[in-house]
Amino acid sequence: MKVGIIGAGTMGQGIAKAFAQVDGYEVALCDIKQEWAEGGKAKIAKGYDRLVQKGKLTQEAVDAILAKITPGLKEDLCADCDLIVEAAFENMEVKKTTFSELDKIANTSSLSITEIGNGLTRPMIGMHFFNPADRMKLVEVIAGVNTPAETVDAIKKIAEEIGKTPVQVNEAAGFVVNRILVPSNEAWCKPSNGTSGAW
Ligand code: NAD
Repeated sequence: MKVGIIGAGTMGQGIAKAFAQVDGYEVALCDIKQEWAEGGKAKIAKGYDRLVQKGKLTQEAVDAILAKITPGLKEDLCADCDLIVEAAFENMEVKKTTFSELDKIANTSSLSITEIGNGLTRPMIGMHFFNPADRMKLVEVIAGVNTPAETVDAIKKIAEEIGKTPVQVNEAAGFVVNRILVPSNEAWCKPSNGTSGAW
């Protein structure tokens, strides 16, 4: 399965690793500029270097994972993706533009899946990873009003295939974890969960 990831920042890098580490998945890691996407992959490689130095992974295993991550632009890499996960900025206009450009995807930490998905021709769903996405097991799965049941089932199955524990939650501002974190954290930081939409 080919997974496009929009945004090669902190969350995008972790999500790329989460998929590329599993047999049967390849990743298109996309950003606004080619060099930013390549920079994201370089950071992933640097993180793996440390694990090789500590003897936790072999260079051969790392090379195999990295070979499955192609950095670039969504226009070039995403046309044939089976799944696209968006991990860009937490901004409704950016998300709507990105989703309508691709006619896919969706990211949200606390934005409406239904609103993001309105007008798209493909099913959209919240697939909410947590930082660091390659290690955190929980994935919130959030169906919008128009998300087909088979899309929900498919995303839960994919989450399980990559070793995650999907939990379906109802669409509501902040979903579950942010709804818990926001009241306790609002005085000092932003809720720390990553996000993704998928179709
Ligand atoms: P980040 O700033 O590290 O990375 C975002 C990346 O997306 C950047 O490289 C940016 O160039 C790219 N980008 C922006 N618009 C794009 C577009 N239209 N097409 C392609 N690439 C685009 O951000 P992050 O920390 O990875 O966060 C991503 C999402 O996860 C945000 O919605 C953020 O609110 C959420 N989040 C992350 C954390 C965290 O711990 N990292 C915490 C809370 C929320």
